[in-house]
Amino acid sequence: MRIDIITLFPEMCRAVLDESILGRAQKSGALEIYTHQLRDYAFDKHRRVDDTPYGGGMGMLMLAEPIALCFEDICDKLGSRPHFVYMSPQGRTLTQQRLKELKEYENICVLCGHYEGIDERVLDSLIDEEISIGDYVLTGGELPALVFVDALSRMAGGVLSDELCFTDESHYNGLLEYPQYTKPQLWRGREVPSVLLSGHHANINKWRYEHSLINTYKKRPELLTAEQTEEVRRLLEPV
Ligand code: SAM
Repeated sequence: MRIDIITLFPEMCRAVLDESILGRAQKSGALEIYTHQLRDYAFDKHRRVDDTPYGGGMGMLMLAEPIALCFEDICDKLGSRPHFVYMSPQGRTLTQQRLKELKEYENICVLCGHYEGIDERVLDSLIDEEISIGDYVLTGGELPALVFVDALSRMAGGVLSDELCFTDESHYNGLLEYPQYTKPQLWRGREVPSVLLSGHHANINKWRYEHSLINTYKKRPELLTAEQTEEVRRLLEPV
C-alpha cells in the first residue's frame, strides 16, 4: 500500500510515521508513506496557501489551486489517480468496517486541512471522501490523518506479523475483545481465570468468545445484535 499525505506540517507527520511499527514497515518495503509540503505548490513569492473567505467571517481558508497542483503532481508520479480523502469534522466518522474496505485501495492520498478548512470547490471536484475521527474539532488535519493512516496501515499486508494481530481484535468482527492476562498468575490476590491455564484450546476459545460478548454488553451494549444480547443475558444468568 502507498499513502501520500498533503500537509503544511510534514515534519510533524514524519515524527510519528517513522517510529515503531509503521517505521519498520516502511523500511521493510511493506508500506510506502510520502508526505508533501503544500507550500511547495503555492504560486506567489510568499508561498501563500490561504486567503480570506468570500462573504466575510472568521479565519482563513486553504486555496484550491495549490491543493489541485499537489494532487495532480502525485497522480503524475503514480501514473494513476489515488483515492483522495480529506480529513474533516464534517466527514463520515471512521470505523473499523470502513477501514476494512479502504485497505483494498493500493493508493490513498490524504489531505490535512487547516484554518477554517478548504475551498468548497476542492471538495466538489477532487475529493472522493471526507473522513472524521469524531464529533469534535481539532486545529488541523495532521492528527486525524495520523490516526487514519495508522489504523489503515496496520491492516496492510506485511505490516503486522500475522493477520490475527488485527482480525482478533476489538471492532474487527463487531465485538470488543475478551479480557487478557499476563504473568504473574496471581497478582495482588487476583487470579488469572483457570481456563486460560488449562491448555485446552476449544475451552479457551469458547471462554474468549463468551467474554468478548460479555465485555461488549458491559461497555458498548449498542454494538450487539438482539440475538447477541439474548445470548449474553443467558450467559450471565445464575446457574
Ligand atoms: N471550519 C471547519 C468546520 O467547522 O467544519 C473546521 C476546520 S478545523 C479548525 C481545521 C482542519 O482540521 C479541518 O480542515 C480538518 O482537516 C481538521 N479537522 C478538525 N477536526 C477534525 C475531525 N474531527 N476529524 C478530521 N479532521 C478534522
